[in-house]
Parts: sequence; C-alpha cells; structure tokens
Amino acid sequence: MLRINNLEVVYQKIIIALRGISLDVPEGKIVALLGSNGAGKSTTLKAVSGLLAGDGGQIIDGSIEFQGEVIDGITPDALVRKGIFLSMEGRRIFKGLTVEENLTAGAYTRKDRLNIKGDIEKIYEYFPKLKVLNNRKAGFLSGGEQQMLAIGRGLMAKPKLLLLDEPSLGIAPLLVKEIFQNIKKIKQEEGMSILVVEQNANVALSIADYGYIMENGRVVMHGESAEILANKDISEHYLGIG
Ligand code: ATP
Repeated sequence: MLRINNLEVVYQKIIIALRGISLDVPEGKIVALLGSNGAGKSTTLKAVSGLLAGDGGQIIDGSIEFQGEVIDGITPDALVRKGIFLSMEGRRIFKGLTVEENLTAGAYTRKDRLNIKGDIEKIYEYFPKLKVLNNRKAGFLSGGEQQMLAIGRGLMAKPKLLLLDEPSLGIAPLLVKEIFQNIKKIKQEEGMSILVVEQNANVALSIADYGYIMENGRVVMHGESAEILANKDISEHYLGIG
C-alpha cells in the first residue's frame, strides 16, 4: 500500500531530519511509528502527506510509493483525492463549525453524497461522545474530543491510508485506550491501512501489526509488534517500557 524507500529529508536546506528511512505499510494493517522527540516521526508523516514544503522541508533522496505509484511532489489536496488522509489534532477541524458540520465537511472529496448521513451515524457508533456533542462548536471540545473528531473527520473522507499523528497527545489514559480500541475496530471493519505516530509505545503496539522505532532520523529497529514488546532490551532502551 505505502512504501518508503531510503527517504532523506532536510529542512531549510541544512537541517537533516531523515537520514534514509525505509518503511512499508501493507494493505489492511496498522503500523506504529515510534521513537523519542525529534526522531523524525512527524517529518515522515508530513513527507507522505505532501506537507513538507509548507514547513521549509524538502526530500533530497529516496522515494515514496502509494499503490505502486511514486507520489513525492504531489500536492496535499491531490494526495487526499488519491486516498491518503492525515489526521492531526487541530488540523482540518473548523473550530467555528459544529461537530456534525465538521464531519460533513470531511466528505468534501466524495462523490457518493447519498451515503454521507449513514457514514456520520457510523462515526457516532465508533465515538458515541461525538453524537452527544453533535451540535457543539468544535472550538469548545476538549482535547480528547477534538482528537476523536479529527479521526472521525478523516474517516469521512474514506481514505485508503489513514495517517494518525499522536492520537494520545494530551488525553486522559482511560480515553487513550478507548481511542486506540476504536482505531483497531475501524481497521477491521473498514479494511483501511493505518500508519500511526505515537509517543505512547505500549498502547500503540497493543493494536498495531508492525512497529518501526526511529532514532535520530533513522529506523533503528522494526518488526512485528508482539516481537518488539517481547524484546525487553528494545522496549526498555528505546520505548521506556519496563
Ligand atoms: P516530536 O514527537 O517531538 O514531534 P518527531 O519524531 O516527530 O518528534 P520531527 O518533528 O519529525 O520529530 O523532527 C525531526 C527533526 O527535524 C528534529 O531535529 C526537528 O528539530 C527538525 N524539524 C522538524 N520540523 C522542522 C522545521 N519546520 N524546520 C526545521 N527543523 C525542523
């Protein structure tokens, strides 16, 4: 589905953020991208979603393929139309619109307008809290609720590849579990491929099929989630799971 080959990225022509990373997201799988602050995780997501240029970043080597097609250099909008959607807290949420209006707006690239109502109901099944808050302006939601809305909004676009940037950020532990269980359910029911960047390695690996650990712009380890979790040295050294 997604294949990153030897990708090198710099910011402002001199700051090296990615030093040749390779990564695969197979169809219908969840891949967790883990690692400490500054390792290059967000840069990877930005590269895949076409958002590097807006941040002063540039791919200097390597390539990104989506369904066999090289996609580097394609605009973020065209990538959404191809089926790649980045969900990030605060991104693409319209604070002045209600929860339901935001969900409706999430379907802007779709032609099957008739199915939109039914899909909104489905999102309310995944995140019942959003149904309760359906008339509330997004700007008044808590961090966790905004995160759910960001994911729900991403789902409305019916992407083939959903990129999630730190869904646990600033969210109470109990809610984090719920959000991740929902992400797993969404993968199973919608058959979507998901690449999730997360600081909370434990919870991410508990739902992911594969994990990649990054450090200093490189992938230092990758494997099946269960393998990573079972390797005490790796999980203690890189992930702080003891
Ligand atoms: P975090 O979890 O802290 O966001 P990360 O693993 O996502 O970390 P990135 O944000 O991808 O890491 O950052 C990788 C490197 O690139 C860091 O050294 C960072 O300082 C640098 N960097 C990121 N964005 C920019 C930017 N817009 N301009 C210059 N340097 C940047």
